[in-house]
Amino acid sequence: MQTFYNECLEDLNIASLECSCHHKGHLIKHGFYTRKIKTPDGIMTLKIQRFKCKHCNHTHAFLLSIIIPYSQILFHDTLSIIRSNTMQDLDQLMIENPNIDESNVSYIKKQYSMHWKQRLLSENIQLDSSLVFQCFFHFKRQF
Ligand SMILES: [Zn+2]
Repeated sequence: MQTFYNECLEDLNIASLECSCHHKGHLIKHGFYTRKIKTPDGIMTLKIQRFKCKHCNHTHAFLLSIIIPYSQILFHDTLSIIRSNTMQDLDQLMIENPNIDESNVSYIKKQYSMHWKQRLLSENIQLDSSLVFQCFFHFKRQF
């Protein structure tokens, strides 16, 4: 996963990125932070690249769409949890990814219903792979 992340980072044209202050070409690499990710192969530590805008001093992180900010659970597992209606669905998910436990599941379901459910319904946004793009487009923030 780190290798894939690094390859994506190498392919990134930093000069073409626009900061949330709307200035382009002012981002510089600004250290790393680590994020633990719960995968079926175990808990992996990923080094996440940070950027700083020389114009406004805001910092940003380079995340792939499979990573949800502040979460250790990957995007597709989070969607499976939100979409699950039965304990059987959840049991299957926790068998496939044993690092995901019942407290992760209840936290994700609670956060979704508190912060996202009505918002997504209001724009008729589906719980599928278009979700990350749709949230940026409609709400100017990442899911
Ligand atoms: Zn900026």
